[in-house]
Parts: sequence; structure tokens; C-alpha cells
Amino acid sequence: MLTGKSLTGQVAIVTGASRGIGKAVAQALATEGATVIINYNGSAEAAEAVAEDIRSQGGMAETVKCNVADFAESEAFVKAVTEKYGRVDILVNNAGITRDNLIVRMTEEEFNAVLDTNLKGAFHMIRHLTKTFMKQRYGKIINISSVSGIVGNAGQANYSASKAGLIGLTKSVARELASRNICVNAVAPGFIRTDMTDKLPEAVQDNAVGQIPLKKMGRPEDVAQAVLFLAGNASDYITGQVLCVDGGMAM
Ligand code: NAP
Repeated sequence: MLTGKSLTGQVAIVTGASRGIGKAVAQALATEGATVIINYNGSAEAAEAVAEDIRSQGGMAETVKCNVADFAESEAFVKAVTEKYGRVDILVNNAGITRDNLIVRMTEEEFNAVLDTNLKGAFHMIRHLTKTFMKQRYGKIINISSVSGIVGNAGQANYSASKAGLIGLTKSVARELASRNICVNAVAPGFIRTDMTDKLPEAVQDNAVGQIPLKKMGRPEDVAQAVLFLAGNASDYITGQVLCVDGGMAM
């Protein structure tokens, strides 16, 4: 059975929630009573399994397919959700991809694809939801950045640029919307065990763990707890911040 209910009556959108960190975030928000919109772009089956798991535990969730990299598609997505529920309280911009390559070999397609999903995707969702948040005089926006956006990472110029961009986006929008009681923060995960990191060669994974002061990879649930904090009332006086969940990597 579900226990704590600090988000009862609230509606949350989590982009890229069909697996990994987004899935854990969706589950954590649902456990606190929020109705969760599980966005995905690829596998409907995986997203529906997350929603079904939440519903089987008494929570509320539905899935919506949308490519957040597309301005018009994101607008239609947001419109459909706001028309159906009448409000959106929490937006978690989590959808993200990698196309790793050394800068000397990186193609324009690799650069654009990563920027379009990771950075422009967050812009699209914030842009389309801001009027709703402003009318409500309430909103919590949480952008999932990365330690790569803070300290950089060889082979990830595109990804690091997108994640650093998200921090600038977070701080600027936080300043713009603060007077309307809308809080905008970022979470910067370090090395978290998901499909994104599982595809890295074992030697790369071992090397990465060696550089983490806590000497272990994080779990999606570790990130979800930080997001939950920033989504709830315990963080009402916090905006424009970047919370690292990285085992000490970026300190
Ligand atoms: P993941 O397991 O690869 O999951 C990515 C999610 O994003 C999937 O649900 C995917 O759904 C969705 N997605 C991708 N492109 C999309 C698009 N255009 N529109 C909508 N949804 C889209 O990744 P993860 O490791 O959980 O990472 C989640 C976020 O945390 C990302 O922003 C990532 O950059 C960030 N992060 C991860 C780590 C880590 O170590 N894992 C570290 C720092 C930051 P479909 O497949 O259905 O499209």
C-alpha cells in the first residue's frame, strides 16, 4: 500500500519516464500521491508497464507519447494534459540521450540530436507550461542536468554542452518566474546505473567508479529522492540551484 501523501491532488509530468531515472522519479512522485504523466518517445510497452506498476500500488498514472525535441508536438502534449487535468504542478525535464564521440570526429547530426532532446526539449516543455504555472501562481520545475555539465567529460562535448545549457536555463527561468511562486532547480546526477551507462564498456565503467569518492555508482532511486525534495513543499524557499547527486564527483 502507498504511505506518505504529500503530493495528493497534484499533477506531475515526467519526460522520458519509461525507464531509468525518469521511471524512478515517476514512481517516487506517485508514491506521494501525485497523478503522474509518464512521457516517452520510443517504447509504449515500457512506459505502459511503469504506469501499470504505479496503478497496481494504488497510484495514478497515464502514459503520453511525445518527442520533446519537437516544439509543436510538445505544445500539443502540454495542451492535452492541461485540458484533461486543469492544472500541472510539477514538471521534471528528464528525457535525455547521448551520442558520444571525440570532438575531432563528432558529426553535426550527433551534436544537434543531443542538444535538441536534452536542452531544447526542456525549453519546449517549460515554454508551453509557463502560462499554466503563472496562472496557478505555483509550479515546481526540475531539470535533470549532469555532472558532465559542470566539470565536462571527454567524448561528451555535445552532452556536456546540453547539460551546462540546462543549468543556465534553470537559473534564468528561476529569476523570471520567482515572483509568481514558481521554483526552478536542477539535479545533476553523477554516474547512475541505467541503460544509458550500461551500454558503456566495462573498462570505462570501472574507471568512472574509481573517480567517485563514494566508490560506487548511484541508483535511479538516489536521484528520485532529490527530485522528490525539489518537487515538494520542503523546498519552497529554494530556487535556481543545482543539486548534485553524484557520490562526491563534482565537489
Ligand atoms: P535512459 O535509461 O536512457 O532513459 C532515457 C529516457 O528518455 C527514456 O525513457 C527515453 O524514452 C526518453 N527519451 C529519450 N529521448 C526522448 C525524446 N526525444 N522525447 C521523450 N522522451 C525521450 O536514461 P537515464 O540514464 O535514465 O537518464 C535520464 C536523464 O538523466 C537524462 O537526461 C540523462 O542525461 C540524465 N543523467 C543520467 C546519468 C546516468 O548516469 N544515467 C547521469 C547524469 C544525468 P524512449 O526510449 O521511449 O524514447
